[in-house]
Amino acid sequence: MKFQSIRGVKDILPGEIEAVQRLELAARSVFESFGFSEIRIPIFEVTELFARGIGTTTDIVEKEMYTFEDRDGKKITLRPEGTAPVVRAYIEHQLNLKAPVAKLYYLGPMFRHERPQAGRFRQFYQIGVEAIGTDRPAMDVEVLAMLMTTLQQVGVTEVQLEINSLGDAACRPHYRKTLKAYFKTHLSQLCEDCRRRYEINPMRILDCKKEGCKTVTAKAPSSLDHLCGECLAHFQQVKDGLNQLKIPFIVNERLVRGLDYYMRTAFEVTTTKLGAQNAIAAGGRYDGLVEELGGPPTPGIGFAMGVERIATLMERFETPKPDLFFALLGEEAVRQMLPVIIRLRGEGVRIEMDYSGGGLKKQMGLADKLGARHTLIVGENELKSGKAILRDMRTKEQREMSLSDLSEPLLKIIRS
Ligand code: ATP
Ligand code: MG
Repeated sequence: MKFQSIRGVKDILPGEIEAVQRLELAARSVFESFGFSEIRIPIFEVTELFARGIGTTTDIVEKEMYTFEDRDGKKITLRPEGTAPVVRAYIEHQLNLKAPVAKLYYLGPMFRHERPQAGRFRQFYQIGVEAIGTDRPAMDVEVLAMLMTTLQQVGVTEVQLEINSLGDAACRPHYRKTLKAYFKTHLSQLCEDCRRRYEINPMRILDCKKEGCKTVTAKAPSSLDHLCGECLAHFQQVKDGLNQLKIPFIVNERLVRGLDYYMRTAFEVTTTKLGAQNAIAAGGRYDGLVEELGGPPTPGIGFAMGVERIATLMERFETPKPDLFFALLGEEAVRQMLPVIIRLRGEGVRIEMDYSGGGLKKQMGLADKLGARHTLIVGENELKSGKAILRDMRTKEQREMSLSDLSEPLLKIIRS
């Protein structure tokens, strides 16, 4: 029987993982310099958390969640996104009491039962942040600066930041009504999904990718024309802050997010280099979510980056090569050198060796193939004379090294 990974779920192999690791490292370092700390949330939660948090009329909740009953008959969902779990943890652990603003980041896999295609998987990785506890526009600007700095640090610069404001509890209902009135006259041109959205959540129609719906939404009233004074001022301050930091952006008044919890600032970073799956990060404000999930009224803002999509935009990195290859001939050489090998590895030296018991020629071939910088040769003759041979694989120069005092001199050469 031959097994294969599940459709839409893929392995990230050595050679591909290096870009992902660099992205994770860069994100951690940028986020931490902004004062964010990691939170590690579970892979699965009760289904109700996502249904409530993300909104029942969203694509995710309607058709993308991996939901099952566990052995106790409890309804469980593999997390499709990180915000609802982070907010759940914020409320559960009363993080509001620990700091005025909880500044958290997470990274890990998300699960959505989507149609697999290039850049769209059923298990994919996100790196995300949430700042919970302030509605100040300065935080929107900081969060956006953090996102753009991270992308810049991994060399992903040909991107576009699009922002919009979706209004708040005061002005959104009015906009919703206006929007509904507009769509009412175009119902026959909308797809089946959108006709359903029309009843429950007409703003979601703006996010539909179908051509017919796009034609209709192109002329739909804009949320920006319906913002209340406070939302307008908030949005203006976000734009001013971005300008001050010289972060380029465009205002896209059609931008809505696929999740119900967003309010006011919504944003997306896109690239022209990935074809249809062009969004590499997205987020926004969710000022109603904490309350919706049973906590005290608390504003928040965050984003999530699509790791696979960003990694394909990054340059390729090679799998690290060994600093040193031990060409050991005979069991006695292996026995004597093992303590040295383990000691040097403990010092961070990357050491490889042969595991097949091959001859010198074969072992040198392997050292070459692995791209080792140096090779240390120890066979019967070397054991007898007490001197090993160190070969510089680049210059082909060889030198003798005393077997009784190997570690320190080797360390020195490797670190020089
Ligand atoms: P899309 O419009 O591409 O479906 P989305 O609005 O569903 O994206 P979010 O839920 O905001 O995406 O997730 C943030 C980011 O995570 C996206 O911008 C994208 O880079 C990445 N992402 C989302 N879904 C997938 C997926 N199925 N496979 C790979 N990456 C994904
Ligand atoms: Mg999606």
